[in-house]
Amino acid sequence: MGKKVLVVGQGGREHALVWKLSLSPQVEKIYAAPGNPGIGQIAECVDIGAEDIDKLAAFAREKGIDLTVVGPEAPLMQGIADIFKEKGLLLFGPSRAAARLEGSKAFTKNLLKKYGIPTASYEVFTDAEQALDWAEHYTNQGKKVVIKADGLAAGKGVVIAETFAQAREAIEDIMIKKTLGSAGDKVVIEEFLEGEEVSVFALSDGEDFVILGAAQDHKQVFDGDKGPNTGGMGAYVNPPLYDEKLAVKVREKIIAPVIAAMKEEGTPYAGVLYAGLMVRDGEPKVLEFNARFGDPEAQVLLPMIKDDIYTLLEKVARGELDGYVPQMEEGSCICVVLASGGYPGPYEKGKEITGLNNISPDTLLFHAGTALKDGKLVTNGGRVLNVVCRGQNIEECIDKVYKEVAKVSFAGMHYRRDIGYKALKRKGMKS
Ligand code: AMP
Repeated sequence: MGKKVLVVGQGGREHALVWKLSLSPQVEKIYAAPGNPGIGQIAECVDIGAEDIDKLAAFAREKGIDLTVVGPEAPLMQGIADIFKEKGLLLFGPSRAAARLEGSKAFTKNLLKKYGIPTASYEVFTDAEQALDWAEHYTNQGKKVVIKADGLAAGKGVVIAETFAQAREAIEDIMIKKTLGSAGDKVVIEEFLEGEEVSVFALSDGEDFVILGAAQDHKQVFDGDKGPNTGGMGAYVNPPLYDEKLAVKVREKIIAPVIAAMKEEGTPYAGVLYAGLMVRDGEPKVLEFNARFGDPEAQVLLPMIKDDIYTLLEKVARGELDGYVPQMEEGSCICVVLASGGYPGPYEKGKEITGLNNISPDTLLFHAGTALKDGKLVTNGGRVLNVVCRGQNIEECIDKVYKEVAKVSFAGMHYRRDIGYKALKRKGMKS
């Protein structure tokens, strides 16, 4: 009998997951909670929030769901995997204890240190005075420091300080004024690392793992990595920086030892392991881990997987990876995020979106913040749509995607015009 799947979440990442699952010949029915209008075209959306775990479990039981796939981090931190397991329901995503790799920076840094996995040198503080002393000591030597709230802070918990005044402001905000709530009970202060960033994605069943590939995100809102950070304005796969040599180092020095360390600690890690790395002179160091697919990295990574995604996710969830290696597509894939005017600051919603009918059939369009209003598709979030193109190489992808982006419009729409340019630079095709 065909499989029934429940996808938890409502963004572009979840639309990409639902789309990929819809291609599986084994999958008969997909539900999404809560989903979005784009997801609604290929799955049945149910009105349950991604963090309403008891309701999600009751729904999964009632509908006889074979596999639940969790997109965002919040339900993982709340223990959705543990609760589903207790109820005998199969779920793709790490346990609460394993998700600490994302949920607690202090936990992760201490683990990396204990197992000798490369990362920036650091100290953990629960006392603001001590944190200030340490930051002062370093910034007075002209060294930049990075101040990180321990807990989940939706991308707002990291401050790079060049001067003691900047460091003091961040430490006081996080530890004394508690601007990030209990996420700031502890802070990690670490050495600033120079280099280029890359994100590597692995799937682990707690014991075995497989590396799906790498992507480069574009966090800042404006071209040339300028302006404030966002959830991500675009991504592309297989950055030239991630060559064969680096891939081997990442596997041997980072992914394999972390999976082994989590097992050794009694909290085996099963799910997507997203490693945010800084690379300098070919040497990778860990900046952070996330316990889920990136958004928008999932939108470029999932189209590159040739295999039946249901088989792969089920093997991970069951702990049966056993050396299975999925086949990946050749070539490249790119995603450009179309955002609302004002994002990542305050923005208006409800702007009509036009031009989607003109999008080429081989382009993927993943919805992030959209809604249906009086039969029309309107904006309903900061990041609104993801335009995703595949091609033989990054040049072809860039060319295609911006032609497609030009077909779409809504009042205030903005997007980065330089997604993928770092790859062109590295290939010597752009100065
Ligand atoms: P994180 O959430 O820890 O990945 O930090 C968010 C972003 O801050 C990273 O993607 C980097 O751009 C930057 N960052 C974090 N830690 C460091 C570091 N030690 N050195 C340089 N940049 C960093």
